[in-house]
Amino acid sequence: MTTSYDYIILGAGCAGLSLAYFLSKQSQQQFRCLLIDKDLKQMNDRTWSFWQKGTSEFETIVENKYSHIRFLSSSVEKSLDIAPYQYKMIRSKAFYQFIWDTLKKDKRFEILFDQVLGVQENENECIVRLESREVHTSMAFSSIHFKDIHYGKHQNVLQHFKGWIIETEEPFFDPSCATFMDFKIKQLKDVRFMYVLPSNENSALVELAVFSNEIWSNDDYDEVLKNYIQQSLKIDRFKILEDEFGIIPMTTYPFEKHNSNRIKYIGTAGGWVKASSGYAFTRILSKAKLLAEALDNRRNVDEVLTAKNKFRFFDQVFLNAILSGKTNGEEVFSGLFKGLPPQLIFKFLDEKTNLIENIRLFTGPPTWAFSKAFFEEILVR
Ligand SMILES: Cc1cc2nc3c(=O)[nH]c(=O)nc-3n(C[C@H](O)[C@H](O)[C@H](O)COP(=O)(O)OP(=O)(O)OC[C@H]3O[C@@H](n4cnc5c(N)ncnc54)[C@H](O)[C@@H]3O)c2cc1C
Repeated sequence: MTTSYDYIILGAGCAGLSLAYFLSKQSQQQFRCLLIDKDLKQMNDRTWSFWQKGTSEFETIVENKYSHIRFLSSSVEKSLDIAPYQYKMIRSKAFYQFIWDTLKKDKRFEILFDQVLGVQENENECIVRLESREVHTSMAFSSIHFKDIHYGKHQNVLQHFKGWIIETEEPFFDPSCATFMDFKIKQLKDVRFMYVLPSNENSALVELAVFSNEIWSNDDYDEVLKNYIQQSLKIDRFKILEDEFGIIPMTTYPFEKHNSNRIKYIGTAGGWVKASSGYAFTRILSKAKLLAEALDNRRNVDEVLTAKNKFRFFDQVFLNAILSGKTNGEEVFSGLFKGLPPQLIFKFLDEKTNLIENIRLFTGPPTWAFSKAFFEEILVR
């Protein structure tokens, strides 16, 4: 049995599978790569929504796409045409299956279902300790999230989600429009909103997202979901087909500092989640693609993994503003959606805006508290 590989990918979730997929598609080189995950990943454990202009190689597994999004809060109610973008939804089961199907045909990859207990490196190699055995590699890419992080001066808050895929007897949903954010639920000290992603007229994912370090009990999430469906959406009779739950960190903590010569962190563990929004899917795909290109061209992968990101400053402003209590998430997002085109907001969240656009975003429509946090952040630098 082989125990030595050129690359080992720890965690075959979104980031691990994306890296393997782009390596398989892009590289003509000979290598041996082992992917390890503790779970079989044969079910839907999350649903990814994202905006995109045009299409990508994953278009065939897009479950639905929306030409419009809805934003709702106590001060703003808008249905917005987002052309040339479309808002899209991919269910994780389809994504995992799509990539497994590609990798099964590629003899350079092996897949192992086992629990990773630890990773160590020495001058010559990296040793991965599994429940069943040890495996060796020149370079490990780990998407296994750290448990104990000391965030220090870096702001951090958890985003927790609970969602139900529901089915109604009568046609109810508009499949061309996703509810991007609905703040019209009881607001407390944390940031909380609902989103709704219809698959068709009779079925949708209805999900609650909360930014707070306090994880709720299952019953508490379920209560909010039930009330929202019955009271806000006014659906009396519905069936819950599936549910999903998850937690991700929203932080400007520089995860890349944990990278060593032979162990590199990717995905959530590598800090690829956008700190101010929690969106990660398209960032993971584009980073994984760049990483695969660097490996294929035998370039230093640190060029990709430690590239400077000036947008972290804006994430810090956002997190400072909402965590310090100077403003709240509803106010900030309402400010943005009240005065700015959604296309500009998407461009900003994609970290593609220029200086003039950034000034417009931070000094225009957002609340005074948000602009103040922006200038305070500049002053403490
Ligand atoms: C419920 C939910 C909804 C989300 N929705 C969106 C969205 O709509 N849009 C968006 O852009 N982002 C979204 N995200 C954020 C982000 O896209 C996902 O969290 C994404 O899956 C992160 O990918 P990852 O590879 O870093 O982590 P994961 O996909 O969680 O992969 C990590 C893998 O490591 C494995 N693993 C962990 N520990 C071990 C171990 N000891 N041994 C072996 N294997 C191990 C796990 O089984 C898992 O497969 C969402 C996240 C959640 C949780």
